[in-house]
Amino acid sequence: MGESVSIEARGMHRQGMSPPLNRIAEHCAVFLDFDGTLLNLMDRPDLVVVDGCLLYLLDELYVATAGATALVSGRSMDNLDALLTPLRLPLAGIHGAERRSADGSVKKIAIPATLVWHTRMALRLRLRRYTGLLIEDKGCAFAVHYRGAGPQVAMRLRVDMQALAVASGGVFDLLEGREVFELRPRSCDKGAALESFMSEPPFAGRFPIFIGDDQTDLAGFEAVGRVQGMAIAVGPRVTAPYWLPDPAAVRAWLRGCLGLGN
Ligand SMILES: [Mg+2]
Repeated sequence: MGESVSIEARGMHRQGMSPPLNRIAEHCAVFLDFDGTLLNLMDRPDLVVVDGCLLYLLDELYVATAGATALVSGRSMDNLDALLTPLRLPLAGIHGAERRSADGSVKKIAIPATLVWHTRMALRLRLRRYTGLLIEDKGCAFAVHYRGAGPQVAMRLRVDMQALAVASGGVFDLLEGREVFELRPRSCDKGAALESFMSEPPFAGRFPIFIGDDQTDLAGFEAVGRVQGMAIAVGPRVTAPYWLPDPAAVRAWLRGCLGLGN
């Protein structure tokens, strides 16, 4: 079954139009979420394996856009770099709390170390009564994955995590993703990260495209929408003017736009 057929076959889940197969070249800036957008979600984020086809595709995008291709993810930049070796792309990590520009310069949000430590310890103490959680300590953000734990656990966990956000005095916000709660610095979101990229070369003045699959990507959709760019939602969790069903369809669409075929 071809990619276009698979998109049509799942038409009942469509939440927007299929994006047109336009050429992606030096007039475009491409921003991509990672998990659930380029790769299928796994039960645990550390189980993700990046295949050679994805590395090749990202490299082709990077060259075709003359360097204006960036990943915008909830993962840390260190984690993304490790997964994408040997590529070294512009990145926004931890929902924009850290960002590497096209020229390699890095900016990270500054949060007082004592507040980070207090939040870390409060989180660990509060979550002792749970089993089966995976706590991802990103240094300046904390993701708690509860995949498969069920709605009761999710409800209790939301209350606990919200209490920690309140205790941070507004420094941390509670963010909800697919079976994950995350305390992330309030001042950061993917929209702000995209706007920062779009104010810098080589992204500035380009036609922006952003593809994402989760609540955390909505701010990114809005950011590209404000400058008449293209927002593409992936899967059933979010909506945008354009829609693709899954990471396989995202990759097929990107390959098509690059003229790479299947
Ligand atoms: Mg995602």
